[in-house]
Amino acid sequence: MSVPPKEGRYCGACGTQAPKTDTDYTLISSVHGWRLLRNIGADGSIRMSWRCPTCFAKRRAQAIE
Ligand SMILES: [Zn+2]
Repeated sequence: MSVPPKEGRYCGACGTQAPKTDTDYTLISSVHGWRLLRNIGADGSIRMSWRCPTCFAKRRAQAIE
C-alpha cells in the first residue's frame, strides 16, 4: 500500500485541510477520525483520497462517492 505525501492532505470532497499529525495513522485514528480511500482510476492507477470525518459520514449515509 502506497503512502501519500505527508504534506498537503486535504479532504477530497470538501477541501478541508487535514490537521497536522506525525503519521497518517494518527490522522486515521479515532482521535481525528479521517479516512483514507483508495480509488482505482480508469487507467488502473491507484489514487489515494482523504475524507474528513464529516464527508466520510455523509458518504456512509448516502452510499455515494
Ligand atoms: Zn470533507
